[in-house]
Formats: sequence, structure tokens, C-alpha cells
Amino acid sequence: MPSDSIYDAGLSSSLADIREQGLFRSPPIIEQREGTRIVVNHRPLINFCSNDYLGLAQHPQIKQAMAEAAQRYGTGSSASPLICGKTTLHQQLEQKIAKLTGRDRALLFNCGFMANLAAVSALVGGGKLEIFLDRLCHASILDGVLASGVRFQRYPHVDMAGLKNRLDKPVDSTRLVITESIFSMDGDIAPLDEISRLCRRSDTLLYIDDAHGLGVLGKSGRGALEHFMLGQDEAPLVMGTFGKALGVHGAFVAGKEAYIDLLIQRARPYIYSTSMPAPVAAAALKALEVLNAEQHRRAHLHELIDHYNTGLAAKGFEAGTSTPIQPLIIGSAQKTMEICECLQDQGVFVMGIRPPTVARGESRLRITLSASHSVEEVDHLINCLDACRDKLDF
Ligand SMILES: *Cc1c(COP(=O)(O)O)cnc(C)c1O
Repeated sequence: MPSDSIYDAGLSSSLADIREQGLFRSPPIIEQREGTRIVVNHRPLINFCSNDYLGLAQHPQIKQAMAEAAQRYGTGSSASPLICGKTTLHQQLEQKIAKLTGRDRALLFNCGFMANLAAVSALVGGGKLEIFLDRLCHASILDGVLASGVRFQRYPHVDMAGLKNRLDKPVDSTRLVITESIFSMDGDIAPLDEISRLCRRSDTLLYIDDAHGLGVLGKSGRGALEHFMLGQDEAPLVMGTFGKALGVHGAFVAGKEAYIDLLIQRARPYIYSTSMPAPVAAAALKALEVLNAEQHRRAHLHELIDHYNTGLAAKGFEAGTSTPIQPLIIGSAQKTMEICECLQDQGVFVMGIRPPTVARGESRLRITLSASHSVEEVDHLINCLDACRDKLDF
């Protein structure tokens, strides 16, 4: 008998369980991608599930910046930042992020998942501490909290009375509150002004994950901090990603000098991982330039969001959100996937989100809008949703 046969048996039954519950997942293979048009399984579809909110993932200037940096610096960075993996491009990007977010300093990470895991677990090492996080916070935040090993509580989603209650209790520990700005699977916006106020009056540190806000929120697209006008005292730590609205890859944490210094000393995913390739840093730098220069992209995105909401209302669907993330809660995982199939048959690509990404009974379509969609494409989406609703009764 092979040595893993006992493990094997357990494995097959877990996999069978997952399949039985309609929760087996596998990534679709994207054969071609050109703006919002993709080809999946030889089928050309309009993509309504990418996080490329500003349509920058195929921007000619950003592609060129990446290609030029590859010629100049090579493909891989060859080492972790503390050894010899940090170039002047990385440094420029950190400085640009610090300026853009209005924080003392920024630190780059290979991706947002690592940034959250690293920052949350490193910030709390040592001392008595308690963490409060929104119940719907991203897996990377929860993993950071779990890795830190400190006490934590998840408060009900954007429940300010619940948070206030918890923060009003006298304690002898330092406290940290963690929230997303725009929630990744629900598309709603946390009341960061109120959260910040509650944190300040109770001497609590605040950490904001702005993965979906950067490039989308704020008068000039600088994200949640700009939208809520939160200075460094109001929001001392912010995390953002380059892989979503900025169309590149990688992430950062920005904040007060001392926090960043601490992360450099302690954050294990920063210390022990090969740094972001220089071409990625060059592309992110260019994307930030384009974000600023091409404000019409965000204006168009917000027009599409309004247009989508108007269209939903006209067809009698429940109201959507004011962000590019538009969930349509279905409930059953199986039904959700049937609706996705129906939409694909009509040329629209939307991915169903099932447990464990969302809670049981809350499976949903997660529709995302992008500045590269046209008004006609959004109309087509709404017509398809309507047709599939007639067919499948949801
Ligand atoms: C996507 C996401 C991350 C992770 O960012 P990556 O760069 O994709 O690893 C972190 N937080 C939230 C809220 C996200 O949606």
C-alpha cells in the first residue's frame, strides 16, 4: 500500500463532499483578453467579473513601461528587498504612494494578500492587544489576525453601534480596528469617518484595507482616504493594491514612519520573499500617472454604475450599490451557478461566488463594472439578467 493511502481516502471523501454540496471550484481558463472581451472555452464573452475597474490592465503606456523596465532591469528581482531586491524603481513607487496617500511612508508587498497577512500579524507582535474586525473582512485580514495569535472579535458588518459598544468597554490592552473601505463581495462602503471617530475617542489604532477603493473613490481617485478626507491622524495605516483598479499587480501598506520601520523589521512575508519584479514596479508607477491624467475613466465608471442601477430598477431588480461591485444575492450555490451558465449562454461572463468565500445561503453573482465597458454592454447585461430570471425564476 502506498504510504499516503489513508490520507488519500480522506481526501477523496472531502472532495466528494465539496462536489455534493455544489461547492467544487476550478478556475476558468481565459484564452484571450482584449478590453472587456474575453474568450473562455472557445466562447467569446463580455467580462463582468474582473476587478480592472478603470480598464488599465491593457493600457498601452503601462504595458510599455513594463516592457522597458524588463529590458533595463531584467525580469526577476533576484532577492528579497533587504538583500538586493529593491531598486530605485521600487523606491520611487514607495515615495509616490506616500505622497498620494498623504502618509509618511509606504512599503511594497508582492500582493495584497501578503500585505495584509504581513502587516496585521507584525503590527501586533508583543504587548497585550485586542483586534476588532468587520465580520465581512477579507480572508487575508483574518489570516493575519489568526497568525498574530492575539485575541480578536468580529463585529457585525458595518454595525457602528456594535463597534462603539465594544470600544466603550474599559480595557488594559491596546486595540486595533480593521475594516475594508469597499467590501469585496458586497460592494458597500464602510462609514470610515464614523469608524475613525470611534477609534480616536478610544485610543484605538485603525487599519484600512483600500483594495477596492484605490482608483475608484475620491475626487481624484486616490481612494477611501480622499473620499472621507482622512489625514494620517484619522487613519494611521492604509493598505492598497495595484492589482485591481490600477490594472497591474502588487500592493503596499502606508502609514506613520514608525509602523513602516516596524514592518521592515518584523513582517515575515516582506523579509523572506523575493521582492516585486522591477517591471511590475515600473508598471504600477505608470498606472498611478495614468490614473491622475485620465480622470475621464473614473467619471465614465461612475456613469455606468448609475446607468446599471437605473436599469436594475426599471426591470424590478433590487437596488445595486454605488461602487463597481454589484452583488446579486441568490442564496443557493447550485442556483447561482445555473444563472452563471445561463448568462454565459447569452455571451455574458459573470462568476458565481459561493461558500467559503461568502456565508452559506448567501451565494451570489458578483457583477463588476469597468470603465472599459460601454453603456450598450451594460444594457446587454441587464437584458440578459432579465431573460435568465424569466427562465430560472430567481
Ligand atoms: C483582493 C483583495 C486583497 C488581496 O489583494 P491581492 O493583491 O489580490 O493579493 C486584499 N484585500 C481585499 C479586500 C481584497 O479584495
